[in-house]
Amino acid sequence: MNLILLGPPNAGKGTQAKKLYADFKIPQISTGDILRKAVREGTELGKLAGPLMAAGAYVPDEIVIGIVEERLKEPDVAPGFILDGFPRTTPQAEALERMLAKLGKKLDAVVSLEVPHEKLIERGSGRRSCPVCGSVYHVFQSPPKRAGFCDKDGASLTQREDDKAEVIEKRLKKYDAETAPLKQFYAQRGLLKSIDGVGSPEGIYEELKKAVGKA
Ligand code: AMP
Repeated sequence: MNLILLGPPNAGKGTQAKKLYADFKIPQISTGDILRKAVREGTELGKLAGPLMAAGAYVPDEIVIGIVEERLKEPDVAPGFILDGFPRTTPQAEALERMLAKLGKKLDAVVSLEVPHEKLIERGSGRRSCPVCGSVYHVFQSPPKRAGFCDKDGASLTQREDDKAEVIEKRLKKYDAETAPLKQFYAQRGLLKSIDGVGSPEGIYEELKKAVGKA
């Protein structure tokens, strides 16, 4: 099963991708996670991407395309993959079509998680993450056992720069202008399935499985 999870920042793409991974063992390919790891490790990629991410801007197409192209060649994606946060622009979607054709793979579905903007801002502003291991919490929805500290390594949790309210608004504008048009792109190819992304993660997951014929 080769899937794209499409949706604005904080729509819950990562949460759903992890559930799919747990059930079907198809890896989640999150360009955001790959870039954040590069920032934490201080690599060249991280140095370039960090300031753009903190400002709510996109990392250049050719860079993220290169990351995904390499990742899709790895053996663990043979049974399938879940793209989370890629593609985000029409050139990325076009590049993905070319690379999948080259690899002899094809998309089964593109699931768009629909969530109103107010809800996205509320979700993002409560999110906290661990600067050491990358674990993610939410002050109300999934708090750590000890407020402010990571369950796994005890590090002080921080708010991601790009979860600050003004940056979230900028990211949403960017999503509407550059990423939302991909819904049309995939609808034209008969691949788009839109589902309501408001509700419990479990309920949304049931809808997602129905949408991809795995319920
Ligand atoms: P995410 O965790 O998917 O919301 O991504 C966090 C940030 O990483 C985004 O706001 C962008 O700055 C950058 N990023 C992740 N994926 C992409 C992509 N496909 N194209 C451009 N920038 C990306």
